[in-house]
Amino acid sequence: MCESSNPTKQADTAPGRRCPENKARAAAVLVFHGELKTLLRRPRRAGPVSYPVDRRASIKDVVESLGVPHTEIYGLQCNGRQAGLEDILAPGQRLEIHPAVPPVEPLRDHPLRPALPRLAFLVDENVARLAGLLRLVGLDAAYDRELGDKDLARLAHEEGRILLTRDTALLKRSLVTHGRLVRAAEPWDQLREILTFYRTAPLRLLSRCPRCNQLLAPVDKQDVLPLLEPKTKRYYRTFHQCPGCGRVYWRGSHVEKLMRRLSKYGLHAKLENPDDNPYER
Ligand SMILES: [Zn+2]
Repeated sequence: MCESSNPTKQADTAPGRRCPENKARAAAVLVFHGELKTLLRRPRRAGPVSYPVDRRASIKDVVESLGVPHTEIYGLQCNGRQAGLEDILAPGQRLEIHPAVPPVEPLRDHPLRPALPRLAFLVDENVARLAGLLRLVGLDAAYDRELGDKDLARLAHEEGRILLTRDTALLKRSLVTHGRLVRAAEPWDQLREILTFYRTAPLRLLSRCPRCNQLLAPVDKQDVLPLLEPKTKRYYRTFHQCPGCGRVYWRGSHVEKLMRRLSKYGLHAKLENPDDNPYER
């Protein structure tokens, strides 16, 4: 619980009768920093929020009632001391609430959430095209348009995935420990946002099937000949295949196009081998 080690005079009185004076004494002060302020309703963005503590509620519940999902919070101090999201807010307390300082490292221990075993995402339908782009740069990005909010939260929890969405209500679910409220509207801007926000290992471009998220495996040309067009058979010799859907991939003009796009968005330097042909490793 978030205990005040040096309560102010105003915090001495617990919430009681609803005279105006007691109401003022029963308030806690919440200070939102950086981009978290943009998630508050407009009148509250200007400065500290005075929150009347008239019921027993966790910091998570209070902060979320003001519009900020707990997944957006990366620093939490109560009267100058480290606090937890499940601590109970008390009158007179002053909370300092901080956003992430990118790059975020979800595989490392953090005071507010457990470390993930690996970097893997779960993509909500409202940012569906982001799933394909994350897969193109080799990142594990699950996506299933059939899943509702409850199932998305459960899957993110069970598989240790970072939930990517533009839905603040979804990120408020307790099962979701790691998530990002995607700010950018366009898919390539979203990709840049995510690759800037999270620290990733060097990206293995085109190592994963953009359709079904499975890792591609090298395959002998002879084994996939029946699947190839005549020109592809003639000009290309190195092929990869998806063990999930069976699609075959090779270096085509789309690879150069993709590399140019990555350069345009400043992401080229994040590749494992920026100058290699990804299908001829
Ligand atoms: Zn596939």
